[in-house]
Amino acid sequence: MKITDVEIIPLSYGISDKPPRRRFFAVLKLTTDEGVIGWGEASDCYGHSHPMTVKALFDEKLRWLLIGQDPLPLEALMQRLRTHVYHPLGARELVIQCLSAIDIALWDIRGKVLNKPIAALLGQHHERLPLYAATKPAFYEPYERHMERIERLTSRGVRAAKLRTGRDLAWDTTYLREMRAMLPDEVEILVDGKYNYYPDSAIQVAQVLGEIGAVYFEEPIDDTSLDEMARVAVHSPVPLAYGEHAYTVNDFRDLIQRGGARVLTPDAAICGGITEMMKIAALAQAFQLKVVPHCGGLTAIGMAANFHAAAAIPNVGHFEYDARAVQPLRDELATEPLFSNERIENGSIAVPSGPGLGIEVNERVFERYPYEIDPQVASSFSVYGTRHV
Ligand SMILES: [Mg+2]
Repeated sequence: MKITDVEIIPLSYGISDKPPRRRFFAVLKLTTDEGVIGWGEASDCYGHSHPMTVKALFDEKLRWLLIGQDPLPLEALMQRLRTHVYHPLGARELVIQCLSAIDIALWDIRGKVLNKPIAALLGQHHERLPLYAATKPAFYEPYERHMERIERLTSRGVRAAKLRTGRDLAWDTTYLREMRAMLPDEVEILVDGKYNYYPDSAIQVAQVLGEIGAVYFEEPIDDTSLDEMARVAVHSPVPLAYGEHAYTVNDFRDLIQRGGARVLTPDAAICGGITEMMKIAALAQAFQLKVVPHCGGLTAIGMAANFHAAAAIPNVGHFEYDARAVQPLRDELATEPLFSNERIENGSIAVPSGPGLGIEVNERVFERYPYEIDPQVASSFSVYGTRHV
């Protein structure tokens, strides 16, 4: 079997937030001479905000390294790709996001050829994955509106919710205490600081997390200093979670050993693919840490990739589930909406059981959601996600 074509498909759609925004996505299609197609997706946290840049890297370099190759010995092929592109292009960020898409598509092909779901090939531990409700920040709206979004999922049995902080210390503190009081006792709280803090303010907020019994504090400070991260970790009464901005098992090793991270949040569409995610999971096991997979607003392809990888991780915790009900590329891209809100039962969603990723991609949907630059989005400087508290 040989790879005959490699195509990045940039996609987007508008969402009705205020102000209106767009979501962007980078989907990969690998075609083979035997008619088997492998699907992949690259992400930089929420879909992919630069699909045209992803496409350029494929068109100029990666597609030429893939065309003519046998997709089945995928670990060897991935190793060759890594060593070939690391030197000139780097071993993190965009390069690894692109390699993630390739690895996922190669696993899809392997599963289809062997007629087995990827999870089964990896060694499946879980048939269903318990979700946590991930919602957008509630910085400038009444808590009640925010609660409604969480309740859409808790009413389906979801028993964990993520709260996003980092507006200012006073607001964060009140918000955390009031949300703990409003949420039912059985719903666990996870808190995401999204790089919004300085180390000292992060330590202050961490005390509130301890008070309300939060499960962990995700990304309180950015990853520019692992020493500062370790200082926050030492003073935080709750464990720190990191991983959605980490690339390959090497970054995760450093996050644990030098940064003091105690919960790992890899995403197969970001960290280097399914193969890399399994290495990260093995590392987590060796350090007796939980893996709580990140999964940020992906299409059905990226969702499926993360589901299969997570299903094969014994020490997996809750799986991140974007509470936004309307996500056309999650629910329309595959012929069956396997990851829609309606598929949640007892707080969990089933791991796809078909061969490969277990989804059938409807390519006609691509025409409905073409890539378009939104000047308003492209020119905006967000405060959220920057060190400002
Ligand atoms: Mg996060």
